[in-house]
Parts: sequence; C-alpha cells; structure tokens
Amino acid sequence: MSKLDVASRIEPKRKKPDNIEILPEICDLCGACVAVCPPNVMSLIQNDLSIDFNGCTYCSLCIDICPLRAIKGSFN
Ligand code: SF4
Ligand code: SF4
Repeated sequence: MSKLDVASRIEPKRKKPDNIEILPEICDLCGACVAVCPPNVMSLIQNDLSIDFNGCTYCSLCIDICPLRAIKGSFN
C-alpha cells in the first residue's frame, strides 16, 4: 500500500490541523516523519528538519509517526 493510500484512509476520519509545528528542542532528527510524508514536502538536510508548507496537505501523518511527539498540530 502506498503512502497516499494510507493517507486517504486516515484523512477522512478527523479534522485536519490548520497549522503544523516542529519542536526542534524535542526532535532527535530520526527522519521517520520525512519518510512517511505522502507529498514528500519534509526535508532533513544537515540537521535541519523543515516542511514546505506550499505542498503540505495537513494530513497529520508526521504527527502520528513521531515517536517523541516533536511535531504539533493546532487548530484555529
Ligand atoms: S502534515 Fe504535511 S508535512 Fe506532515 S506528513 Fe502530512 S503533508 Fe507531510
Ligand atoms: S519523527 Fe519526530 S523526532 Fe523524528 S525527525 Fe520527525 S519530528 Fe524529529
């Protein structure tokens, strides 16, 4: 099953966050979130984890996969 298939199964079940925030003081740069992001808009380059919000679908998979809860979603 592709990452997009997984995302489409999960997405309809709950409200998407309006904002996604990486908490660098908690993140250990394991890369799990980068690997799971369906549109591949997360990057981990030279210890810098970032999200290209132009392509982010706010699917929350990165939040769910993070073992340290270092990505936070919020609702406006
Ligand atoms: S919420 Fe955005 S950054 Fe996180 S996995 Fe989904 S598309 Fe990628
Ligand atoms: S899964 Fe969590 S700890 Fe791992 S790189 Fe992503 S934000 Fe950091």
